[in-house]
Amino acid sequence: MTARWEVFAPALDRALVHARHWLTSVPDRPIPAQTTADAVLASIGGPLPDDGRAPELVIDELAAAVEPGLMAIGSGRFFGWVMGGSQPAPLAADWLTSTWDQNSAMRAATPGTAAVEEAAATWLLDLLGLPGSADVGFATGATTANFIGLGAARHQVLADAGWDVETAGLTGAPRVRVLAGAERHGSVDLALRYLGLGTPTAVAADDQGRIRVADLARELAAGDGPTIVCLQAGNLHSGAFDPFGEAIAVAHAHGAWVHVDGAFGLWAAASPRLRVLVDGYAAADSWATDAHKTLNVPYDCGVAIIARPDAVRAAFSLQTAYFAGFQGAGEPMDKVPEMSRRARGVPVWAALRALGRRGVAELVEGLVDRAHQLAEGIARIDGAEIVNDVEFTQVCVTFGSDERTREVTERLLADGATWMSGSRWRDRAVLRISVSNWSTDDEDVALSLEAVRRTAAGPGPAA
Ligand SMILES: *Cc1c(COP(=O)(O)O)cnc(C)c1O
Repeated sequence: MTARWEVFAPALDRALVHARHWLTSVPDRPIPAQTTADAVLASIGGPLPDDGRAPELVIDELAAAVEPGLMAIGSGRFFGWVMGGSQPAPLAADWLTSTWDQNSAMRAATPGTAAVEEAAATWLLDLLGLPGSADVGFATGATTANFIGLGAARHQVLADAGWDVETAGLTGAPRVRVLAGAERHGSVDLALRYLGLGTPTAVAADDQGRIRVADLARELAAGDGPTIVCLQAGNLHSGAFDPFGEAIAVAHAHGAWVHVDGAFGLWAAASPRLRVLVDGYAAADSWATDAHKTLNVPYDCGVAIIARPDAVRAAFSLQTAYFAGFQGAGEPMDKVPEMSRRARGVPVWAALRALGRRGVAELVEGLVDRAHQLAEGIARIDGAEIVNDVEFTQVCVTFGSDERTREVTERLLADGATWMSGSRWRDRAVLRISVSNWSTDDEDVALSLEAVRRTAAGPGPAA
């Protein structure tokens, strides 16, 4: 059977039917999944059948089994963790990316998708106010983007100390010091673990989780040798931004490489109104962000930006005989850990093209405005207290004691009309709200506030 359209059509037609059904249901369905992974497994798992079945029937079976187990993350009333929901253009572009099936590792081999990714990269650097000469790698998420930035950092600080880590490895190398704010995201630790750099030294943070520059300066002065400093744009709980101008200046004065984890916060730079939050951050050496959070493209899509292309290419490129004739400098695969790779920048291009510069600014500002609306509404609920300074997309709430906060959080999740997750911040239980979805509108905010009011009032489960 050759790969003719007629061979694909029945399965793709069914996929479109199921996509239409799912997207139609998202605005009104309860947010939480309606069943468990074990129950889904019971209906589609078991021993591998000996005989196959037609692709369209496989798609029907898959959709029927999986749908009750899907969480409505794309709902305008989903505020859990820091997620987002796909917009139409990047979703459709993602379908095409799969359909085109390009292994987008080398420019000359897959010029179409490579060019789209280059265009997206140029737009991103412009939009975020970062150096136009930087390298951009499209990877799976901000964890990987942190890994890329810190991998380039490891190369450079060791090269500056006369050590070639790519050849000699870490054994016997000068010790690399890594300093990071006490409220850094755990993925920074994970990336450092992959790189053999261990757990960073925690630098004290202020009451919003921002790194304290005086403490950073003291830590930097207390040691020497190859040094990496990790800063943060967008604290998971408060949304706060590190004081980049001062922190980068003091880090650079000590010869450190500065990496910025801005998984969701980097996008503040795309708004003239919010840009002040990242003031001075363009002087850093590398930045990590997600397109699957604030930009609302489908999973999985992270972006690593490295001011020094030679450093990232030294860490991640690979020259090999069997790529002969297709390999030049700065190929897509030279900026990410993968060799074979999906053209993850294509949905980014589509999102940016659909929004335009103004649309991206409005998207980010809209999320922040919704966060303020939710915070103001919740502050009016009896017993509720907003415990962070809301300056970006994050809101943290307590309802008196930790016990009561956890109880309200549980009831809210069981209620299902809105979805906000629980956490612990600054030694208190909190209900955490992250406004990350482009589709959240006035009605979503009103319904969500009503759900919080309802669950905060009732001692028992909502009727
Ligand atoms: C989500 C997040 C990450 C990790 O991103 P993934 O895309 O999940 O890998 C890193 N840092 C911050 C601040 C985040 O919010």
